[in-house]
Amino acid sequence: MSNCKTHKTCINEALKKAETICNEKGVKLTKLRQTVLKLIWKSHNYVKAYDLLDELKKIDDSAKPPTIYRSLDFLIENGFIHKIQSLNAYVGCSHPQEHKECYFLICDSCQNIEECCSEQINKVVISTTGKNHFELNQVTLEISGTCQDCTN
Ligand SMILES: [Zn+2]
Ligand SMILES: [Zn+2]
Ligand SMILES: [Zn+2]
Repeated sequence: MSNCKTHKTCINEALKKAETICNEKGVKLTKLRQTVLKLIWKSHNYVKAYDLLDELKKIDDSAKPPTIYRSLDFLIENGFIHKIQSLNAYVGCSHPQEHKECYFLICDSCQNIEECCSEQINKVVISTTGKNHFELNQVTLEISGTCQDCTN
């Protein structure tokens, strides 16, 4: 379960943001990329590439795995979606390009993903990596458990 009220707004905003960013960058949000983004935004749950392919095939039966992966790469590169490494799955980002540090709360029972940021975690990560003389690029934390809706 997600805590948004009207999910349609989430989808529309995500698409609008993606379009604006693409225009600013001078890259093209093709029909296919837009469709894949919309499919990912169907909910706040994570999706697997093969599920996306199944959905896409309903629209275009010539869709093949490379079609999906190319679009996913584009969407990740531009920050519109995130890859959840531990699950090999994807989820839409509601604040593309705002920051590079986030952590994900992944519910094991309803598969909802909440994206959060924490200054505190960032500070710890920066000081810890600094001690190891490690120059960090991106911080992504994936935390699995049970969300509030599912514990109630
Ligand atoms: Zn929503
Ligand atoms: Zn994000
Ligand atoms: Zn849940």
